[in-house]
Amino acid sequence: MSVMWDLPDFDDHEAVHFFHDVETGLSAIVALHSTHRGPGAGGTRFWHYENRETAVTDVLRLSRGMSFKNAMAGLPLGGGKAVILADRNRTKTPEMLAAFGRMIESLGGRYVTAEDVGITAADMVALTKETKYVSGLPVSNSGEAGGDPGPFTAMGVYLGVKAAVAHKLGRDNMDGVHVAIQGVGSVGGGLARLLARDGAKLSIADINKDHAAALAKEIGATVVGLDEVMRIEADVFSPNALGAILDKVSIAHLNVPIVAGGANNQLATPEDGQRIFDRNILFAPDYVINSGGIISVGLEYLGDDDVNEVNRRVAMIPQRLTEIWEQSAAQKLPDSDVADNMAMALIGRG
Ligand code: NAD
Repeated sequence: MSVMWDLPDFDDHEAVHFFHDVETGLSAIVALHSTHRGPGAGGTRFWHYENRETAVTDVLRLSRGMSFKNAMAGLPLGGGKAVILADRNRTKTPEMLAAFGRMIESLGGRYVTAEDVGITAADMVALTKETKYVSGLPVSNSGEAGGDPGPFTAMGVYLGVKAAVAHKLGRDNMDGVHVAIQGVGSVGGGLARLLARDGAKLSIADINKDHAAALAKEIGATVVGLDEVMRIEADVFSPNALGAILDKVSIAHLNVPIVAGGANNQLATPEDGQRIFDRNILFAPDYVINSGGIISVGLEYLGDDDVNEVNRRVAMIPQRLTEIWEQSAAQKLPDSDVADNMAMALIGRG
């Protein structure tokens, strides 16, 4: 029998809590990877997993990712994540959410939750009836941080793309710079609008063809095919849809000097960071460039809910990326490895 400590994705997690509530049928796992910098913060995912092992793998990986993301964003927060194991019909009752809220409360603030896949802002509000350890609540005042993190993430990615273009291509403006964007939802769409304002040449692709066409018309972009967007000759490829899209095959076909986008977990395996490095492509580690949203959500929880402070911190993302790229060149290490090493040091595991 293998136990938690033997699992390949166990990375010295401080604690993994398994919860079950007989009355409501709720099954949930909360993983705390590190509380070195503060309470373990990260969203709750509500998902139908094929089996329990997959749920455990997911919560272990995601909580570690949150430790890294929060540390690199300079937040006094550790890394945690929760998954609720949904049944086949994804049944989510108010009673179930209330039981989950009580479970979070029982951890006494070591874990702070927010939205993730399958959880809505309304669910977050419902959780506040049972626990105070909740962030990502809708805001009533536009001067406050918090609420939808998408625009802050898009702004961070935009600043990161510009920093990458300056670093790799020596360009100080985006006029005529060709950016291929995969996924134009909340993050990719926001990025496209910001880049269009700067005169960038944009090729966009989205499985939602109507949405892509409407955006292209609005901002003067060109719609390209779903496969083409990853192979097109451009200055930047910006993934803003799915994770694990950079693998042996796709990296071999990239036709760009820069990959910089907001999608989470873009590298299919850690070795793919080396593959990108070997092709002399500059890579913006995802959990650094896409940290605008967590900066907003984190500051909201910490009570520093002034939008100017969020913007000030988001504006520091290019500096952190440049530090990574410089160290990568000096140490001849992939950008992704340098970022992981920096994050490990920041959580006291250097
Ligand atoms: P979203 O759902 O608003 O947008 C995703 C878009 O990608 C949709 O328009 C969808 O149709 C499109 N898409 C899906 N599969 C595709 C494919 N195969 N090819 C092309 N397009 C495809 O989501 P979002 O909030 O914009 O998040 C995008 C990515 O950024 C995700 O990986 C998410 O985890 C990550 N992220 C988001 C935030 C945030 O604040 N929203 C923060 C950090 C990371």
